[in-house]
Amino acid sequence: MKKAAVIGGGPAGLTAALYLARAGIEAFVFEGNFAGGKMNDTPEIENYPGFLSVSGFELSESISRQAQSAGAVLVSEAVTDIKKEGKGFILTSHSGENLFDAVVYAAGTEKRRLGIAGEEKFFGRGISYCALCDGGFYKGKTVFVIGGGNTAVSDAIYLSRLCKQVFLVHRRDEFRAEKHLTSLARKIENITLLLSAVPTEIKGDKRVSAIVIKDKNGEREYATDGVFTAIGADPVTALLKPFGVTDGSGYIIADREGVTSVEGLFAAGDAVAKKCRQIATAVGDGAAAATSATEYLERLEE
Ligand SMILES: Cc1cc2nc3c(=O)[nH]c(=O)nc-3n(C[C@H](O)[C@H](O)[C@H](O)COP(=O)(O)OP(=O)(O)OC[C@H]3O[C@@H](n4cnc5c(N)ncnc54)[C@H](O)[C@@H]3O)c2cc1C
Repeated sequence: MKKAAVIGGGPAGLTAALYLARAGIEAFVFEGNFAGGKMNDTPEIENYPGFLSVSGFELSESISRQAQSAGAVLVSEAVTDIKKEGKGFILTSHSGENLFDAVVYAAGTEKRRLGIAGEEKFFGRGISYCALCDGGFYKGKTVFVIGGGNTAVSDAIYLSRLCKQVFLVHRRDEFRAEKHLTSLARKIENITLLLSAVPTEIKGDKRVSAIVIKDKNGEREYATDGVFTAIGADPVTALLKPFGVTDGSGYIIADREGVTSVEGLFAAGDAVAKKCRQIATAVGDGAAAATSATEYLERLEE
């Protein structure tokens, strides 16, 4: 039986493992943290088809259980190195080196942090890294969005439809975001722009209640119910550097079927260069990459 490794046990990796196992491939999912990936960071998911609302933990549990009941093996270890060995790959993790015939890489992304006081403490309790996911919890409330690129400005526009008041804070006096987005944001009444300004502290008791913003006039504390940070994310793809499959920003270049330019290496989920990074797309990518990997492994056997 051919052996495939899946690196990353988020929705993309777990779905890939489910499809591989169901296709009769020995599938091992390496997960360095918690199975479910970033789904675990989401108290309530309201946009995953089939569920009006589901906790990220519950969805993680059920996808993980489904993959394992199909025969996938969950290895609770981070992969620290990948080497090509003939047609296969040697993966290094805590338990040593193991040889696999194919690899599905699904290690996701890491949001950039503001690095200010209060950020770690209030993560998930008023601080969010995903407006699309968590905006619904701030209906009628006041929120701050930090950032100046397309994501930050789109988040502010999206949140302005739900929230009473949105403050968009950007460290420069001009936005990096596309012009049409910026001009739309400027026209929306309940968006206030705070330019050439940076957050220096997030305050609260059990949840966020205030944010301190510094500009040329000094520091000022604003009352707020939430802070959305959108200062970018970085793909977790350092292990793939030697393979030359990433773009200038470190995202994996793969086609819609998850096929990369390296034979036997497939990719899925948020780590792939694409626009929409959501659970639904991660799951779709995982299924596609596993199907491509299965076809590849069948060709190897011929
Ligand atoms: C706060 C927050 C809320 C969100 N809410 C929603 C929502 O409501 N709806 C929605 O559709 N999307 C939401 N998203 C986006 C969604 O979570 C992601 O698009 C999705 O989880 C991406 O899946 P993935 O499998 O590609 O990556 P991830 O979920 O990031 O999983 C990658 C996994 O790989 C593991 N890993 C990384 N490196 C290694 C290694 N070397 N070895 C082993 N394991 C490794 C990581 O530990 C992680 O578990 C949210 C994101 C965040 C941050």
